[in-house]
Amino acid sequence: MLAELSPALIAEVKRAAKLLAAQSRICILTGAGISAESGIPTFRDKQTGLWENYGVEDLATPEAFMRDPELVWSWYQWRRQIVADKVPNPAHHALAQWQYHAQTSEQEVILITQNVDDLHEQAGSTVTHLHGHLWRNRCGQCEIPYQDQLRASYDGQDTVSFEDELITCPHCNGYIRPDIVWFGETLPAQAWETAEKAAAKCDVFISIGTSRLVYPAAGLSQLAKQSGAQLIEINPDPTPNTIVDITLAEKAGIILPLFIEEITSL
Ligand code: NAD
Ligand code: ZN
Repeated sequence: MLAELSPALIAEVKRAAKLLAAQSRICILTGAGISAESGIPTFRDKQTGLWENYGVEDLATPEAFMRDPELVWSWYQWRRQIVADKVPNPAHHALAQWQYHAQTSEQEVILITQNVDDLHEQAGSTVTHLHGHLWRNRCGQCEIPYQDQLRASYDGQDTVSFEDELITCPHCNGYIRPDIVWFGETLPAQAWETAEKAAAKCDVFISIGTSRLVYPAAGLSQLAKQSGAQLIEINPDPTPNTIVDITLAEKAGIILPLFIEEITSL
């Protein structure tokens, strides 16, 4: 596998793996890019981004849902259809393997994701979701969860509904919405606290497959840096920044399995 990469990238992979093997507290932030190789489109990549035909302001804000709940609901139902049959790729599996390996080593590997899919969980990882869950619903008015285990029902009985028709809450008659953090909304307090703590105390912060444009999640790498951590970025199209120590400009599904190989053999 290493032979397929450029000598410069191989050297960087080895440098990163050596750094990681020597440090005990690792914090990882993943974004849409880690699920790209599973066939889930990212939000902003030019060719396949979900935003090519739709404006963010028309779909992923509370205002959009108030203005046109049917449009927003049907867009999420469409996204669920796209994601439903997708499975974890080598990058998700490598992170799960690393967390498993860390249980019997000195390392702590904390995984935080901006993704709303459940591919990290499917791969066997323990993960904190900053932006909610695609497979959960709640009332947009009283906030009570609705059919909380949508994904479980899909897995078990294939009964998940991808109907476009709006559902109303049995408690207050408000419209049911996906349990996802929209632009302008506050992140779930407990998840954010976990992420902030992990970023502030880690030795190495790894940012994988995120454009680092959406705050506050994007601020976690700055917090880690200010607290003395080294920063690694894995992204075939690296983000323009000055604070990253090691940039690995390659797909996560190629880099992460190599890490595991290197780290566990060091
Ligand atoms: P993004 O689409 O902005 O960026 C994806 C990044 O992944 C890009 O930098 C791209 O170069 C990189 N990438 C592509 N393929 C890759 C691969 N194989 N390996 C590694 N990297 C790869 O995604 P983001 O940064 O996660 O977006 C920020 C967040 O904004 C989203 O995670 C989401 O939570 C939130 N958001 C939410 C909604 C919503 O539905 N509520 C809508 C839009 C954005
Ligand atoms: Zn309600």
